[in-house]
Amino acid sequence: MSDDGLSRRQYLSTVGGTAVTVSLAGCFGGGGGNGGDGSTEITAGTAPGFPPFEMKQDGELVGFDIDLLEAVVDETDYTLAGWEEFEFKSLIPALTNENIDVVAAGMTINDERDETIDFTDPYYSSNQAIVVREDGDFSPTSLSDLSGRAIGAQKGTTGESTIQSELIEPGNLDESNYNSYGNYVLAVEDLQNGNIDAVVIDEPVAQTFAAQRPVNIAFTYETGENFGFGVRDGDDEFTQALNDGLSTVRDGSTYQDLTNKWFGQQ
Ligand code: GLN
Repeated sequence: MSDDGLSRRQYLSTVGGTAVTVSLAGCFGGGGGNGGDGSTEITAGTAPGFPPFEMKQDGELVGFDIDLLEAVVDETDYTLAGWEEFEFKSLIPALTNENIDVVAAGMTINDERDETIDFTDPYYSSNQAIVVREDGDFSPTSLSDLSGRAIGAQKGTTGESTIQSELIEPGNLDESNYNSYGNYVLAVEDLQNGNIDAVVIDEPVAQTFAAQRPVNIAFTYETGENFGFGVRDGDDEFTQALNDGLSTVRDGSTYQDLTNKWFGQQ
C-alpha cells in the first residue's frame, strides 16, 4: 500500500525499463498516496502477452484482468493509481517488495504461492492446454505423447509445473527438451517457427492464440485451476475489500459483460 507517491515515482525513474507505469486518467489525486478524496492509492501489476487476460493493443494495456480489477477496485474505497508491467515470474517478488499492491495476471491460486502471498477469492477457472502447429504433423493426444519432443512454457507458470511434475520428474521427458520463455508469446512464436513442437498453456489463452495464429489445441489436461488476484500476506483489509468488490461485480451484470467482451458470448 503506497502512502508515498513520490517514492513510487522515484522507483519508476530509477528502474527504467524494468517496470512501466500506465497511469489512468484522473486517478492521480493530490499526491501523498491518496486518490484525492482521501482514499488509499494502490498500484496493480500484470504481465501482458497472456490474451485475452492481459495484452498490449496499439501500445495500450488491455484485457479481461485489466477491466475486471478496475471494476472491482471501483467498488472499494481504494483508488487504482496505475498499472506496472513485469515478466510473469517477477510479479510475486514485485508484490512482496511493495513495488505493487495487487497482481492481476491470470495467476493460479496454489499452495506453493500461498506460502508467500495471499489471494482473493477465485474469479476464473482454467485447465492446461497443449498447443501444436496447425500443419498437423504432430498431433499428441496425451502427455506421454510429448516424450522426446521439444516443449515450451512460460517461466514460473503452472504450465511449467505440469511439464516438471508430469513429464520430467517421472522420466518421460529429458530436462533438455524443456524450453522456458519469459513470455508465452515468445513460446508460441517458437512453436510457429518450428523450434519447439508443443506449448503447455492455460486453456482460455490457448484458445485465443489458436484463433489468432496458425496453432491448434491438440488436447487439454485437466488441472482445475482457479485464478485469483494476488495480494500481500497480511493485507487483510485490502483483500477483504477486493473480495467484497468482486462479489458485487459478480452479482451485477459487470462480470458477465466483461466475460462476453473478452471471451465471446458464453
Ligand atoms: N495460470 C498460470 C499460472 O498462474 C499462468 C499465468 C500467466 O502466464 N499469466 O501460473
